Amino acid sequence: MLKIVISGPSGCGKGTVVKELLKYSNYKLSISVTTRQKRSTEEEGVHYFFKTQEEFDSMIAGDELLEYANFCGNFYGTPKDYVDKTIKDGFDIILEIEVEGALKIKDKFPEAILIFLIPPTFTELHSRLVGRQTESEDVINYRLSRAREELALYKKYDYIVINDDISEAVRQINAIVESEKLRSHNRKDIIDFMLNN
Ligand code: ADP
Ligand code: 5GP
Repeated sequence: MLKIVISGPSGCGKGTVVKELLKYSNYKLSISVTTRQKRSTEEEGVHYFFKTQEEFDSMIAGDELLEYANFCGNFYGTPKDYVDKTIKDGFDIILEIEVEGALKIKDKFPEAILIFLIPPTFTELHSRLVGRQTESEDVINYRLSRAREELALYKKYDYIVINDDISEAVRQINAIVESEKLRSHNRKDIIDFMLNN
């Protein structure tokens, strides 16, 4: 079972693409904890587990997070237990996280697949962030400047997928996951089965 990290500049469409991927039965999404304020469109336990700074700090102290990072002034982290359980249960787990966290995951789990989702143009990224109507102009500008820094790290990722047409982006991610599963180092079980039957 694979750990699939999907990163990309804020507003590029990660949430939108992940929602489509979750229609396939092999995927589960890791729900992160965050100290960010809940948006009116979000639900506790669906989009995030919303935490105070004290609660977040105590999760770090208790070694409950696989990784965490500060993004534009708020903390975000991946709870360890759910990821472990989901992999054990036989699902591919999607971690929709920013670049710093993605690199920490690759350090800990070199077999994790890092996918960088990008918008077709910077202008389109700007209009998607504005069009979503969830952030103030200041926050949008902060996120856009962060996007330029994140994009500079594209070579750290295994794959780059352009989110122009949503269904095409989903098709490409499914194709990546399928070919990763066919790699020889993931095929020991099938060879053992073949030899014993
Ligand atoms: P992220 O999770 O990366 O911050 P979202 O999934 O919230 O981004 O998408 C940001 C905005 O862009 C949303 O309003 C969404 O409907 C829109 N969007 C996402 N993907 C596309 C696409 N391929 N084409 C046009 N608009 C898109
Ligand atoms: P947003 O505030 O738009 O929901 O998320 C901001 C950024 O934080 C996005 O790039 C998102 O992928 C990232 N993020 C969400 N959860 C996590 C997490 O658990 N860890 C890390 N490192 N980043 C996360």
